[in-house]
Amino acid sequence: METFDALLASIAPVAGESRALVNPATGGVVGWAPVHTVEDLEGAVTAAVAAQPAWAALGHEARSAYLLKAATAVERSAEELAQLLSREQGKPLNGPNARFEVGACVAWLRAAATTPVIPETLVNDGETRAELHYRPIGVVGAIGPWNWPMMITIWQIAPALRMGNAVVVKPSEYTPLSVLALAKVLNEELPEGLLTVISGGRDVGARLAEHPAIGKIMFTGSTATGKAIIRSSAETVKRLTLELGGNDAGIVLPDADPKAIAQDLFWGAFINTGQTCAALKRLYVHEDIYDAVCEELTVVAKAMPMGDGLDENNVLGPLQNKAQYDIVANLVQAAKDAGARVLIGGDPDSSQPGYFYPTTLVADIDNSNPLVAEEQFGPALPIIRYSTIDEAIENANGLDVALGASVWSSDPTAAREVASRIQAGTVWINKHGAVDPRIPFGGAKQSGYGLEFGLEGLKHLGVPQIING
Ligand code: NAD
Repeated sequence: METFDALLASIAPVAGESRALVNPATGGVVGWAPVHTVEDLEGAVTAAVAAQPAWAALGHEARSAYLLKAATAVERSAEELAQLLSREQGKPLNGPNARFEVGACVAWLRAAATTPVIPETLVNDGETRAELHYRPIGVVGAIGPWNWPMMITIWQIAPALRMGNAVVVKPSEYTPLSVLALAKVLNEELPEGLLTVISGGRDVGARLAEHPAIGKIMFTGSTATGKAIIRSSAETVKRLTLELGGNDAGIVLPDADPKAIAQDLFWGAFINTGQTCAALKRLYVHEDIYDAVCEELTVVAKAMPMGDGLDENNVLGPLQNKAQYDIVANLVQAAKDAGARVLIGGDPDSSQPGYFYPTTLVADIDNSNPLVAEEQFGPALPIIRYSTIDEAIENANGLDVALGASVWSSDPTAAREVASRIQAGTVWINKHGAVDPRIPFGGAKQSGYGLEFGLEGLKHLGVPQIING
């Protein structure tokens, strides 16, 4: 379609206040975003309320056709979108990063469009005929984070639209351009008023969460904000899907092959430079193979280039913002102060521009160290030694958050047995964080509730209704 400059110009504010977004790799200005207010939000909600009934009346088949066209529009603009995402978020074009993220948007849109939603007959015994239907909710509010801004927006809006709802999106104030550009491309195909992005701050998010015309909030972000949304949505008894913070454990059993698993362990932890909700954030390794796993992971880590996202060679980038950089730096410092052994990294070069924190592996660290107990959300992985599987499972289950987890073993039966004892929304075996549009995903404990993806995910964007006759 259009060039990158044309895409950026098409989302630039035409009136009102605007705000510069800078590239976290260079400090250079990427573009300008509107500063939307609570009044702008009112306008978007009014438009959504007006557009929704006709959209709902189209039915599944016609809505799916729209979404498939929207997916093709994203595919057409994929390179321009990836360029913008890389500049604003910092993630490299290559590796499991910007181009991968835009590709995932297309895949999840198509999955949401093509998954059949058929009313279920619950009882049909000659006397009673009871059916379960899913009706549109109305207008859905989508509030997202800055780590995977395009993909997570699609995760929220594609099922919402498919199920007959209109959507108002409140992107993270760190990455509004990516979401504005994505919506611009989607809106080339969608009816007017159905999908609006309000590029505002926390006040706008808070208003969206309490707004009487919003029937549901899809929220992805921190556990603290999730709790604030529960509170502000209480008055109107909104439906909520909450995908919150995590601190995923991986457990490597003694029979695993360190060399064979090193690459997948690395990407499980360092995808998007560690800024991923369901990334591997604490690695528990049996003492028999502890040194070998540390060694193989260090070999892989050394080979992964980090730098400006627009350089085609890089597969790791900067932290997206200074606040996140400080969290990672302070946690690694706490580990060093406690006497943990840094295998690689841990020593940022502050003379360089950008929020780059080097790929860091920390061994011989205590389970109670803050780098283990708190979510680092960046490129620093603690590796904890264990002796018995009971000890590893107890430590893995020892936190209030429980999004994902993984078990690494050459024996699938043993791995499944361990998986069944782990408290987490998803337990992967010999991989970590591998989400799939066909497979539901959601958190346990304070990592949230509600499911996304697959038929279950679509059902969460509808109101169940029983017809009993
Ligand atoms: P955040 O909670 O700071 O912000 C997320 C969004 O909430 C932003 O758009 C923000 O403006 C908005 N917001 C802030 N206060 C609000 C309020 N009171 N009411 C309504 N909206 C409000 O999160 P973040 O720092 O952008 O993202 C990082 C966190 O997100 C990490 O903890 C990470 O684990 C989590 N995350 C979870 C998933 C998942 O699927 N479970 C995915 C990605 C990120």
